Amino acid sequence: MLSDFSNIPIDTQPLTQGLLPYILGTIIATGLFVGVFLHELTHSYFALKKGIKIRSITLLLFGGVAEIEEGIPDPSDEFLIAIVGPISSGIIGAVCIGIAYLADYIIINPTWAAVIVFIFWYLGLLNLLLFGFNLIPAFPMDGGRVLRAYLAKRMDKYKATKIAANIGKIFAIFFGILGIVTLNFIIVIIALFIFFGAEQETTMTRYTSLLEGIQISGVMTKEVTSVSPSMPVPELINMMYMYKHLGFPVIDREELVGIVALEDINKSSEIDREAMKVKDIMTREVITLAPDQPLNEVLQKMAQRNVGRIPIVSDGNVVGIVTRSDILRVIQLRES
Ligand SMILES: [Zn+2]
Repeated sequence: MLSDFSNIPIDTQPLTQGLLPYILGTIIATGLFVGVFLHELTHSYFALKKGIKIRSITLLLFGGVAEIEEGIPDPSDEFLIAIVGPISSGIIGAVCIGIAYLADYIIINPTWAAVIVFIFWYLGLLNLLLFGFNLIPAFPMDGGRVLRAYLAKRMDKYKATKIAANIGKIFAIFFGILGIVTLNFIIVIIALFIFFGAEQETTMTRYTSLLEGIQISGVMTKEVTSVSPSMPVPELINMMYMYKHLGFPVIDREELVGIVALEDINKSSEIDREAMKVKDIMTREVITLAPDQPLNEVLQKMAQRNVGRIPIVSDGNVVGIVTRSDILRVIQLRES
């Protein structure tokens, strides 16, 4: 079968013997993983070089997603960071295919030649597939970012994102139909992944552009109701009813020591709750921001860490709090 599509006349007979198919499968899967990892590493390397923080790298079959910490980078930076991923896959693919051809010339033992050619040819094709797939000019693929960066030099970021995302959705619909017609479940999943990725990117960019130019101090609630770490949990529940707030900063001798929210109460067992105190259930690692930071920081932190409220700290003191509903209110006001 291999000789059909590789043009390399190898004897594939020995590849089907004994455990060899399983061993080859494992090697190729590992090789593909390394290929995807190198692709992501290239994105990260260039992002770091441009001074952009990368929070996490999620490895997915079709190009992992290196999550960028700070909103949308400058168009020329984004262009570079996005394009280097597919380029690295393209190079890896070409090198693998080169090795396959070379191995066919050099290795005399027919079994070894077949094994090496098969592995590198297959890995070469998979990496070239990654290269091609990621160059599709549609969100959330690298090509979508390249397109957005190209457009963002000529118009505002939100408009550029919307165009790139709409192209992504058209591709997704086309992919979806193709998947359904050919009864290929994987293509349908990829189509959904593209569609919702494009949708999410548009929403995030729209919010970011609506919140642009606003400082945290202009939106935060200045009168912060806090609780003490020694407050019993039943009392905390009463406070939630009274103030209609679902979370409070925990302050001990004027120092922020934690944050406690309804989720923390729900995590504790109902029987223990009676005897528990705020300090037993609170989250100790609190994400805080400063009043002079842009409001967009709040939006990003909330999205990344999945928190509903962020205390605003200045000189070690809590001077305010911003909640998810504060952000939504500003978005609604700006939209109308
Ligand atoms: Zn990529």
